[in-house]
Amino acid sequence: MNAVDRLKESLARFPRAAVAHLPTPLEPLANLGGDLDLSLFVKRDDCTGIGFGGNKVRQLEFYLGAALAEEADTVLITGAVQSNYVRTAAAMAGRFGMDCHIQLEERVTDVDDLYRNNGNVLLDRLLGATLHSFPEGENEAGADAAVGAIAERLRGEGRSPYIIPLGAGHPPLGALGYASAAIELSMQVETIEPFDEIVIASGSAATHVGLLVGLRALGLDIPVSGICVRRAADIQAARVKQRADDLCKLMGLSLSLADSDFRLFDGSLAPGYGRLNDATVGAIRLTAQREGLFLDPVYTGKVMAALIQLNETGGLAGRRILFWHTGGQPALFGYAGQLTEGSSSGGPS
Ligand SMILES: *Cc1c(COP(=O)(O)O)cnc(C)c1O
Repeated sequence: MNAVDRLKESLARFPRAAVAHLPTPLEPLANLGGDLDLSLFVKRDDCTGIGFGGNKVRQLEFYLGAALAEEADTVLITGAVQSNYVRTAAAMAGRFGMDCHIQLEERVTDVDDLYRNNGNVLLDRLLGATLHSFPEGENEAGADAAVGAIAERLRGEGRSPYIIPLGAGHPPLGALGYASAAIELSMQVETIEPFDEIVIASGSAATHVGLLVGLRALGLDIPVSGICVRRAADIQAARVKQRADDLCKLMGLSLSLADSDFRLFDGSLAPGYGRLNDATVGAIRLTAQREGLFLDPVYTGKVMAALIQLNETGGLAGRRILFWHTGGQPALFGYAGQLTEGSSSGGPS
């Protein structure tokens, strides 16, 4: 059996609520690449389809598959107020006939009314999800415990809840979606020149780890650079390593990853998770104006800002780069206040 079939076989053991539009397009970003003097391509995981798409669709196919397999009737999930994950979970739960309870955590300070009510929050409400709030943003165990308490209450009412956990102490089911995406990419690059590097957001790390482990399991050694959107590079590197081990265990892979496989860059993270900086706003504008492609304020805008920074310091010169677009555009409307601040293109005032 070849490596692709082996990986497919180990993924096929997990139930999957398949709904994503796949394969997502792989396209050149010729204008932006020209500006940056790079050979630049984009993997359009913002186009995964359901509920405005994004990377969480690939991840949630495995969580909802597990929920359906145990005949759950309600999905519970926790995330930031402008979380794409919870919005996508609500969309997919409804599609598969389940209710959805969402817990929104206060991860971001200095927010306005648009942040609290527009963008993903508006969509959560349109999707009919039941919203709860959690006062802390950096307490994964506490957030998971609070979701557990909601589940307990639902059980008492005769419901069958399925929890999608946040903390790193659970098997990384979502990462399976990106191990699968590695197979998809390997097919797409069969007929084109290979990439020198993939640049992708690293938050919970499910996306980063799934792709990295998937590629290595296929024997592909393309460097994968995780751009930190939540934690400093050293802390995130430890998390990525741990989750890579967890994923190998979950999939029954015996893979030894080298230290050099764990590439993290946090140069565009400040002032912190979900908080904009000028480079990120600039990257969002530049990509929109040069390519007609929208990035998001929390993840992909920071990834492109990092790519531009790395390029300026000579880190990418002349290389063939794949920018992985993980979606998130609905959050633009939650950040509209900050995105138009002090801007001549801010519209009528
Ligand atoms: C959640 C998210 C990420 C980060 O993915 P992880 O798997 O949590 O690391 C990146 N981009 C977007 C748009 C997201 O919503």
